[in-house]
Amino acid sequence: MADNAWFEVQDLGNGITALGERLREGTDVKSYLVEGDRDLAVIDTGTGVGDFAGLVAAQSAREPLVLQTHGHWDHIGAAHRFARVLIHPADAAALRAGEDNAAFRKHFGEGAIPYAWLPAGFDPATASIPGKDPTGTLLHGQQIDLGGRVLEAYHTPGHSPGSISLLDRQARALFAGDVMKIGMVLLGRRQRSGRLSRDAAPGRRAGRSGRCHPRLARRPADARRRARAASRLRAGLDRSPPDHDPNHELRATNRN
Ligand SMILES: [Zn+2]
Repeated sequence: MADNAWFEVQDLGNGITALGERLREGTDVKSYLVEGDRDLAVIDTGTGVGDFAGLVAAQSAREPLVLQTHGHWDHIGAAHRFARVLIHPADAAALRAGEDNAAFRKHFGEGAIPYAWLPAGFDPATASIPGKDPTGTLLHGQQIDLGGRVLEAYHTPGHSPGSISLLDRQARALFAGDVMKIGMVLLGRRQRSGRLSRDAAPGRRAGRSGRCHPRLARRPADARRRARAASRLRAGLDRSPPDHDPNHELRATNRN
């Protein structure tokens, strides 16, 4: 397999390109490129399999600015290949840590990404995700000016403490990372019996937790925070951009 055949490249119009990577049959992870006049927003950096940075460079000559929706392995894989990387402070440690080979190689093989899918030259036996020191923070209310195009950041915790969603108001596009998914989402704490515990979010049924995200947030408090974040997002779609309120970040971080 040619190296970049690992990625599925989709032009979504409006200067937005999706870069997909298959995780399992029927499941993929997508990163997005959003072109401004000056900068290219790279929203997430994939799994670290394949030449992600080379593909980005081939897609656009603009200066890449990485905006991480969160710090899970399948979204930070190639962050270390870029000069400018922003992430919410609550997920910064995951970005700094990366994944060593002992953890990273578990994403491949039986029940995970099939070896047969992997591009030539990628060896799960030795590969890892190098850590990356973020070069800046991505905070609620922040406006990322790409030149003639602005992305608005919303703090939408729940899937991870530092999950950020990015709104492109003009294109009417929302980049929500793993905060929104198609399929079941686990909102309560599962007991050994497989039933939800009594403190599960009312009115919600449990799905199974995503295997790619073993630390998927599953506390009821997280479900409530996720619902509040969704309300904020819905409100933001119809109203003016949020003021940047540093106290919001402080309160949110203190709850974690
Ligand atoms: Zn995730």
